Amino acid sequence: MVESRITLGSTIKNLKWNWKREPTIAEEVGELFGLLEQIHDYGWAQGVDSWKWVGGGPTNFTVYAVKQLFISDQNYSDFYKMRWNGWIPLKCNVLAWRAELDRLPTSAELTKRGMILQDINCPLCGDYTESSAHLFTACIFALEMWDRVASWYGLPPLYAFEVRDLLSLTKGLKLQKHETRTVHGIVITTLWCIWIARNEMVFQRKKVKVVDVIAKIKASSFFWIRNRSKFKCIEWKDWYDSPLILL
Ligand SMILES: [Zn+2]
Repeated sequence: MVESRITLGSTIKNLKWNWKREPTIAEEVGELFGLLEQIHDYGWAQGVDSWKWVGGGPTNFTVYAVKQLFISDQNYSDFYKMRWNGWIPLKCNVLAWRAELDRLPTSAELTKRGMILQDINCPLCGDYTESSAHLFTACIFALEMWDRVASWYGLPPLYAFEVRDLLSLTKGLKLQKHETRTVHGIVITTLWCIWIARNEMVFQRKKVKVVDVIAKIKASSFFWIRNRSKFKCIEWKDWYDSPLILL
């Protein structure tokens, strides 16, 4: 301990190294001189050691104080708060949330983090670098998906530049609460199915067809919304024709 190596007189401090072996090689001597240089002007005082929180805010260390320290220089005022949809499984909500934050392992994000990939182009169209925005809003595959999804639930075609536009598309529409939740749920389901299709292409080299993905969106959203909402009597045939008419 420091106190067993340094004793303080009234005006002088004594260093008691207690070496087992004197420092001899250049590196050891260099470290010793470095240490002596650092403590030369230090104002030593006698007393008992104590812990001190120097993070600002509350005077004592608390988890809350650490949290305040972390967020003190961050500006969250324009952060988008995604609305979670309880009719759709958590895994799909998380995928949508990560897509909006651009935190999915797309080629663009992996390259940014230093991974060297053989092919950084979108696996679904092969024409552009794969990013979340491209994959879900600009890719020819996604555009066709959204076109078909919009005509399925009978609303105007979608125009989106970012994932956020998709997740908040019900804002400008005059829909009832349960209709808004249904459309929002279908959007999240569509994001999920596009990502699954992308993964099948990347990892299994499986060519996916738009019609198959659309069928999956209809079936998955039917299963999830019927079992997770109060609308337990939805019939598959009605849902398949148009999800909003029957609610
Ligand atoms: Zn693409």
